[in-house]
Amino acid sequence: MAEPAFSVCVYCGSKPGASSTYADVARAAGHWIGSRGGQLVYGGGNNGLMGLVASATLEAGGRVVGVIPQALVDLECAKTDCTELHIVQTMHERKQMMAERADAFLALPGGIGTFEELFEVWTWRQLGYHDKPIGVANTGGYYSGLLSFLNSSVTAGFMNGAQLDLITIGDAVEPLLVQLVGKAANSDLGTDLSRI
Ligand code: AMP
Repeated sequence: MAEPAFSVCVYCGSKPGASSTYADVARAAGHWIGSRGGQLVYGGGNNGLMGLVASATLEAGGRVVGVIPQALVDLECAKTDCTELHIVQTMHERKQMMAERADAFLALPGGIGTFEELFEVWTWRQLGYHDKPIGVANTGGYYSGLLSFLNSSVTAGFMNGAQLDLITIGDAVEPLLVQLVGKAANSDLGTDLSRI
């Protein structure tokens, strides 16, 4: 297969969530990536939104790179039909490989694993370990409470507006993906995770 047109790392829930809106956004993201000849990088599981975004990418003709720690292969039902499935030893290796293989990052609704991955890649960006765009899909207002808290952290003096500006927030996932992939194409996508 030819080189993918772009590569997006998607962080999202290993659960489907309580509303079908969440499944819809995962499928829409996967369809957008796959139908444009892109590559999805994700955690390699078949559960919840993770499985949905990967299946939708494959069905639309895209590549899927799954990265899963050995200890989670059964728990998270490793998706064996990924274009590439990497079984690694540690969570740290997983996150590093996911970051290295992507041009941009997108968080969809999810739980603590999703939050941790989003915050880690965001802190890596503000520390200069990479300069890849990061997006948050605020599907159905899922992240509104968090975004409100983050703004209050700016007011309280623990964050500054420039840090908040490092993430791109969008209600609808397709325009958000357009922005992220566009920004990625206009940067030189430096990644230096060697200091982590
Ligand atoms: P969740 O959003 O909690 O449903 O988890 C989504 C994904 O994040 C799952 O594949 C988890 O294995 C993964 N995850 C959970 N904790 C971490 C972590 N510390 N680092 C990286 N991935 C994690």
